[in-house]
Amino acid sequence: MKVGDQTLSCPSLAEIVRAIGWPTSPSEPEYDLAIYGAGPAGLSAAVYGASEGLRTVLVERYAIGGQAGSTSRIENYLGFPEGISGSELASRARDQALRLGAEILLAAECVTGEVGTNTFIGLLDSGKAVTSRAIICATGVEYVRLNLANEDRLLGRGFYYGAGSSEANLCTGHVFVVGGGNSAGQTALNLASRVRKVTMLVRGDSLKHTLSQYLIDHIRHTPNIEVRTQSALTAIDGKDNLEAIRTSNLSTGEETETKTGWVFVCAGGRPQMEWTDSDNLARDSAGYLLTGQDLFRGIQPNQWPLDRDPYPMETSTPGVFAAGDIRSNSVKRCATAVGEGAAAVASVHRYLSSIQDRHVPRSKT
Ligand SMILES: Cc1cc2nc3c(=O)[nH]c(=O)nc-3n(C[C@H](O)[C@H](O)[C@H](O)COP(=O)(O)OP(=O)(O)OC[C@H]3O[C@@H](n4cnc5c(N)ncnc54)[C@H](O)[C@@H]3O)c2cc1C
Repeated sequence: MKVGDQTLSCPSLAEIVRAIGWPTSPSEPEYDLAIYGAGPAGLSAAVYGASEGLRTVLVERYAIGGQAGSTSRIENYLGFPEGISGSELASRARDQALRLGAEILLAAECVTGEVGTNTFIGLLDSGKAVTSRAIICATGVEYVRLNLANEDRLLGRGFYYGAGSSEANLCTGHVFVVGGGNSAGQTALNLASRVRKVTMLVRGDSLKHTLSQYLIDHIRHTPNIEVRTQSALTAIDGKDNLEAIRTSNLSTGEETETKTGWVFVCAGGRPQMEWTDSDNLARDSAGYLLTGQDLFRGIQPNQWPLDRDPYPMETSTPGVFAAGDIRSNSVKRCATAVGEGAAAVASVHRYLSSIQDRHVPRSKT
């Protein structure tokens, strides 16, 4: 592979990033703010942090954009009436963050975090360390992907990962929900009040091991929800939008084709939190970070170490904030992730003012 004037053989992502001259290691000994994860929440935090005078570094393990970066068209982002591709939105945000003075490290995975006295250290997979006075965790969620043929083309065009809270209003006719967990159950109930029929495709032979009893009861009493157990989605098809799917009965092998324009895959998401010390950050039962007043759903008020209340978006470790999909109860949309990134920076300012040795704002060139 030729990158600039170098020829690389089977290069790793880090080798490609270095070959194009993009930084993978921090240039400063300390930053006011380190943001982990360059999805919409992290990019927004970088734009606001840098534009408001904080020495800001944004650390991303893969490429800019996060989940949004892999989306062919985001139709519901304010200001883009024709929609915008996730990669274009991400590259515009990257350019904006850089222009405003943020440093961006790519192919730099944070593998562990350490808490010092008013400082935080993120250790990268390269062995380098990022030291900062405050942190925003914006490491998002990774959804279980089905990896079906046509998936990339039809994603966001009738085929969705997640609960589809903003698409639900548009759905009509017969809608399919893949999964048998609580998020699938809630999605099915939400959709059932708006559409003719909802079919849940569940791999197991019942919902009782995967779904809360109250949701099972609600589903039972909702006549337009059909639960198809031992069933899997095996194919999706359509020209510009989803038009038809194929499902398989896992016990008989029988395949069924159905016309539908709507499938929501709720097969589970995993918050990307392996790099943090779980003992220091309170989470909800699904592993998402508790922040602000929500903290007291996970810790006793006397476990919060300060006299003041936690700031909005602040985790159970003062000075560590969370924004976007990683946060408990987040809406899981680009616009909300962007809003949370900005809101987290506002809380970072309050936090930095509250600790003794206030930073000196960087002078702008
Ligand atoms: C297929 C798909 C389509 C979607 N379509 C829409 C849509 O049309 N409209 C809409 O509003 N929303 C859509 N969403 C949801 C939206 O993309 C997410 O809500 C949004 O991206 C969340 O942003 P985030 O910044 O919180 O996290 P993410 O986008 O998940 O970004 C997190 C980033 O953190 C990085 N990271 C994780 N761990 C580490 C680590 N240890 N060190 C460094 N970096 C790390 C990841 O690589 C990733 O880049 C879609 C999601 C998917 C999956």
